Amino acid sequence: MLTREQWTEKFVDVIAHASSQLPPDVLAALERGRDAEAPGSLAAKALDSILTNVAMAKGGWQPICQDTGTPLVWIHHPVGTSTRMLTAAFEEAVRQATGKQLLRPNAVDPLTDKNTGHGQAPGIPSVHCEEWDEPGLEVRMILKGGGCENVGAQYSLPNTKLKADRDLDGVRRCILDAVAQAQGKGCAPGIIGACFGGDRGSGFLESKRQLLRRLDDTNPVPELAAMEKELYEQANQLGIGPMGFGGKTTVLGVKVGYLGRLPASYFVSVSYMCWANRRATAKFSPSGEVTWLD
Ligand code: SF4
Repeated sequence: MLTREQWTEKFVDVIAHASSQLPPDVLAALERGRDAEAPGSLAAKALDSILTNVAMAKGGWQPICQDTGTPLVWIHHPVGTSTRMLTAAFEEAVRQATGKQLLRPNAVDPLTDKNTGHGQAPGIPSVHCEEWDEPGLEVRMILKGGGCENVGAQYSLPNTKLKADRDLDGVRRCILDAVAQAQGKGCAPGIIGACFGGDRGSGFLESKRQLLRRLDDTNPVPELAAMEKELYEQANQLGIGPMGFGGKTTVLGVKVGYLGRLPASYFVSVSYMCWANRRATAKFSPSGEVTWLD
């Protein structure tokens, strides 16, 4: 296995990938959205300028958006690997990536209100390590912008205003409401990661983990696959459109997961990811050889 310094170097590469390019499924969804909008409309122009921006960033390893967001990372590691070492290696990778301008200095100490200057602070990056049986390592990360994080929402069911009971239709109503409330803020078209069940903390974390999924995958739970499809169609009929300019492209995808809940609680947690769905997945062999996955 590699040393901490060697892992830091590998993780800087993962951050560079995430920061400067969009996964092909997201790019394809943006292109489909642009083609569906009326030529010359504000919606088509907004999507066109997004696609131009993305193309420019890719060539020069430059950030796609000036807000490089919060790095959220899930690491699968073999039995016996130190999770403290991996976390420390990723924290150092964030500091180095910020020094190389792959990330913006994006961490503020809320006590002093001062920017730490190197992109790292307690809880930033947010690193989650899970053991698995393979000999190598898998790193899956997203960079989640502040604007879209601000329009996330959590609901406690039942909710009389939304006529949402403690069932799948109630869950659907909450997710659709979160998209409607956002009104394009958080840089639509968005990608919705949602979780029902769990507690207030675990529900939000699972909703963010849903954002690691490819847009074109199919939920293995048939009821949730149907809900994701229905929500995608309903959200795109709201007329909010890219950046709230109106149009047919309000969301690029909806992903829904679930966790066990207490009898007393029924939470629906909704995380809104902006169009800049910067997602990177890398698999490393025990000797550190990398394979990039979509
Ligand atoms: S919400 Fe996303 S696209 Fe909008 S400014 Fe933040 S990171 Fe950039």
